[in-house]
Amino acid sequence: MRDRIERAAEWLKESEFAIALTGAGISVESGIPAFRGSQGLWDKYDPAEYATIEAFMSDPFKVWKMLKELYETVRRAEPNAAHRALAELEAMGKLRAVITQNVDSLHQRAGSRNVIEFHGSGETLTCLSCGGKFRIEDIDLENIPPLCHCGGILKPDVVFFGEPIPPEALKSAFELAERCDLLLVVGTSAQVYPAASIPRIARDSGARVVEINLEPTPLTHEVSHLFIEGKAGEILPEIAQLVKT
Ligand code: NAD
Repeated sequence: MRDRIERAAEWLKESEFAIALTGAGISVESGIPAFRGSQGLWDKYDPAEYATIEAFMSDPFKVWKMLKELYETVRRAEPNAAHRALAELEAMGKLRAVITQNVDSLHQRAGSRNVIEFHGSGETLTCLSCGGKFRIEDIDLENIPPLCHCGGILKPDVVFFGEPIPPEALKSAFELAERCDLLLVVGTSAQVYPAASIPRIARDSGARVVEINLEPTPLTHEVSHLFIEGKAGEILPEIAQLVKT
């Protein structure tokens, strides 16, 4: 494993335009369960049943029960060593952007500046009736579903299954994928599209692809040039340390 970590660090040093794509796995060490290969929240709430826009529209109370628990988990969470290592690489000038599928804002809290939120953000909510905008810290989650002054139901600005990707994020992410010469893919099962197409776009455009995950994914043998098996919170800080020296 050490030789793989060293190779990833060498490639980062050589690279002129490196970016990262992250998934729920990078936040697991912060205490936020991922959808796949995990436990906790998602044992109680099947994402296939709770994370679709149809489910939200047909039974907002039921979906808000899950969202309330997820918000409570995210509120308790702190960025971990993996988030901090990516922020550090950006500060060193070795990472241009993080494209994240996560909605937990932990990259920004760790200090990453150029973050593309591919699946939206849990920080803001929109009224489904009048389009009014709210911030999550101003919302009392004791009464769910939370309502707008107009009586409409509030929905977090996160992309539910069945909803389109925010156009600006989609455009920026695909441009970055075509432009980068190195892509770090961290903690994603690469099963949710179109996010899962980003590594192949990067590879087809000539980038090296380095994947960090606890287990192989559909990318591992098809797309990744280098697979490092293990915890993001242990591997990324080692890579960042080697890049620094
Ligand atoms: P996923 O749940 O499908 O897959 C998580 C992946 O991370 C798995 O391949 C797993 O092996 C890997 N993993 C788990 N712990 C790890 C660790 N410590 N180090 C390295 N890898 C680890 O996640 P996904 O591919 O991101 O797709 C699920 C969708 O749901 C995405 O949109 C995702 O962001 C969203 N989601 C977000 C959050 C969040 O914001 N934190 C939490 C759950 C789901």
